[in-house]
Amino acid sequence: MPEPLRLQGISASAGYAEGPLFSLDRAASHYTVKATAADERAALEAAIGIATGRLGGLIETADSEAAGILEFQIAMLEDDALSGPALAAIASGQPADAAWRQVLDAEIAGYEASDQDYFRARAADLHDIRDQVLRALSEDDESTAPAGAIFYGEDLAPTRFLETDWSSGGGIALKAGSAASHVAMLARSRGVPMVVGLGAAGPSASPANPVGIALLDAEHGGIVLSPSPAEIEAFRRSSSSFAARRDKAETYLARPAMTKAGTAVRVQVNIADLSDVDGIDIATCDGVGLMRTEFLFGKTLPDEETQYRAYRKVLEWAGEKPVTIRTVDAGGDKPVPGLTVEEANPFLGLRGIRLSLARPEILRVQIRALLRAGIHGNLKVMFPMIAVADEYARAAALFAEEQAGLAARGVAQKTPPLGIMVEVPSVAIAPEAFADVAFFSIGSNDLTQYVMAAARDNTAVAHLNSVRHPAVLRLIASVVAFGREQRIPVSLCGDAGGDPASIPGLLEAGLRDLSVAPAQLAMAKAAIADVTV
Ligand code: PEP
Ligand code: MG
Repeated sequence: MPEPLRLQGISASAGYAEGPLFSLDRAASHYTVKATAADERAALEAAIGIATGRLGGLIETADSEAAGILEFQIAMLEDDALSGPALAAIASGQPADAAWRQVLDAEIAGYEASDQDYFRARAADLHDIRDQVLRALSEDDESTAPAGAIFYGEDLAPTRFLETDWSSGGGIALKAGSAASHVAMLARSRGVPMVVGLGAAGPSASPANPVGIALLDAEHGGIVLSPSPAEIEAFRRSSSSFAARRDKAETYLARPAMTKAGTAVRVQVNIADLSDVDGIDIATCDGVGLMRTEFLFGKTLPDEETQYRAYRKVLEWAGEKPVTIRTVDAGGDKPVPGLTVEEANPFLGLRGIRLSLARPEILRVQIRALLRAGIHGNLKVMFPMIAVADEYARAAALFAEEQAGLAARGVAQKTPPLGIMVEVPSVAIAPEAFADVAFFSIGSNDLTQYVMAAARDNTAVAHLNSVRHPAVLRLIASVVAFGREQRIPVSLCGDAGGDPASIPGLLEAGLRDLSVAPAQLAMAKAAIADVTV
């Protein structure tokens, strides 16, 4: 019996899975070299066609989020930027599989070397495309995972995720990976347990080297390989306690959140994409505490009309409940072509309001769309990454100017209450400079990374990046106290608000208004009901 091996990473989707380990890093399959370069070319084109067809087939049953990922992959496959160099390599004598692998590996290396999480996360899509075509070239289907398997390897392709039948359990344990990747988003929305950042030290599981059953604890971010009977028993207890908590949590969804002591807590939702609202019953939340607008800023900058329609849709969906829309927070780990700039240290650079004020012509378009949308609901607007009061004053002045311009042209509009994100330590430490803002929304993701000097997207320093560190909680408590004194409403919209382990500390710090990811709504309300404040 091999010794148990415990690996620790980061939870990307909470849950538990017990099953055989299935290696994602198995050797490539066999390809039969063709007689002529023309045959190699035909083989590659046919394989790309097969892969594109399979992706198209998956789209038919995919939800909007998965369809977006699949469409992105089809677009990449249809782009000559990948097939062109591979066909050129074939013309110079390479077999189709080697040519395709070489081109894709070079592209993947470029994405993986990026210091921006967004691009590293997209490397998984390229891996996926590479393997789809290689699989079609070799017609290899022996790499089917057994039911309930825990996929273990460097990274998991989104299509592999979508092709897998998760109905009999299973999970994902990645040596690398990122909680911000497409596959992590899919895992969270489907409730598949997933851990990332386990490191390269684990075993190389293969049919010749089985490690037997594995226990994936994606609530706490760990995995045990070759567990002892006692570990299996303890794991099953934790797993059923998690399942019971999740089932029980569903019963909290329909009710307003309240602590054990009877203190009411507002729970709003964070929206990152327009399609998010389709899956939420507005009756289950107190409004939108954060609508990120970065999703609108894709390959081209969105015009006023596109933005206006998006904001109006969410405001009308929310009815009388408040919708807090944040002006674009580009930069940091969120590059936007045509807007952000290359920087050595993007988290400390030109991001959020700094960038918007540097490019006022782009901010003005967003402001006009917000002013016009304001008549369709209960809109509030906030600015990200505010560090000094002058930034707020300048952004508010742009609102006043654009409002006057619209009014002069007879365009219907309404100025919303203007607030700020509290996510830069300077604001949290000295909030008195902001006594004239309409509200504060604490961005605990950034506040934590800046207070702890531990990047939010770096698994190597994840143990330091904790909102529960006394330094972060004390700062949050002081912002809440300042808000009470000055009668400025304070909420929190970072991911910690939906984390059951962090909720007690946040409520003890005085917060009574949290905004959480939609998938976390039920668990957050259940966790609030356990707190005694
Ligand atoms: C935050 O920093 O906590 C936040 C909500 O903003 P984002 O995650 O978009 O940076
Ligand atoms: Mg932030």
